[in-house]
Amino acid sequence: MAENTSTTGAAPEELSENILITTVDSVYNLARSYSLWPMTFGLACCAIEFIVAGTARYDMSRFGMEVARPSPRQADLLIISGTVTKKMVVSIVRLYNQMAEPRYVISMGACATGGGPFKEGYNVVSGIDKFLPVDVYVPGCPPTPEALLHGFITLHKKFKTQSVRTVPWYRKTYTGETPIPVLGPDIIDTHPAALKQVRDVNMTRLMAARSAAGPQISAGEGQGTIVIRNPGLTRDLTDWTLQTGDDGETYHFPAGFVLMSDGEVRVHTSSGATSSSAGDIVWPTAQAIGAETEKVSLVDADGNAVSSFEYEAITS
Ligand code: SF4
Repeated sequence: MAENTSTTGAAPEELSENILITTVDSVYNLARSYSLWPMTFGLACCAIEFIVAGTARYDMSRFGMEVARPSPRQADLLIISGTVTKKMVVSIVRLYNQMAEPRYVISMGACATGGGPFKEGYNVVSGIDKFLPVDVYVPGCPPTPEALLHGFITLHKKFKTQSVRTVPWYRKTYTGETPIPVLGPDIIDTHPAALKQVRDVNMTRLMAARSAAGPQISAGEGQGTIVIRNPGLTRDLTDWTLQTGDDGETYHFPAGFVLMSDGEVRVHTSSGATSSSAGDIVWPTAQAIGAETEKVSLVDADGNAVSSFEYEAITS
């Protein structure tokens, strides 16, 4: 009978050769490393090399990976093997979302990683990492089966750095859902960051166009009415003037007069004119505008004519 050694903390003699002490992470990572199930999935010539990696000569079953699954629900490794077109990337991201967590992505070959020889193609995505989180890149065109095996080993090394306490897929808030791009005239990346980038660029262009556009004046309805429209940014018209060409009359906008973006204001010039709505300007000129064909100009604070028009003759 074995001596009771519990007081000293030593294992019984007959068990001492059979006890291993390790961490949960080591066991977990070892199990995951050698039970990866790649999805049966190929896009172009690189896929042939992926197939060859499964043959007896290269034998990727050595890594417990021979069970290539035809369903994304049962796969946890997506090997992007070939040229990714804009039309195909929509389906690729959808398949990725259907895979079980934890899931991994290998970008195999120049095409998947950066567009390869088709980088400038109108229909080619210049890198799958723009849409999916890639764990390992395997270079080459095509990469050899040996290179792909090296990619698997590199992925195994990555597993060894992970811990069940810190990996994201056990967190309650983690969804892992990747936004699916939309195929239109061009591919639209629906990642929030990508959409924000597009919005920012559009906003910058809009602001540039608007800041370049100044207020415009034209003849309004009714005798002697001038309309000022502002298609650009909000402007302070302090020290701006309206000037008539022939009789040289000038209207000075009051200090702090602001014309809002996309705003409009009417100027009534005929004698006895009254404002028809709040914000209108009443400027009864000594000589009714339009008694003769006459040029009217909107002049900024620096004396530059921003907009002008010929007011056709109107009898007051
Ligand atoms: S990287 Fe080369 S071999 Fe692979 S899909 Fe592109 S063109 Fe074909």
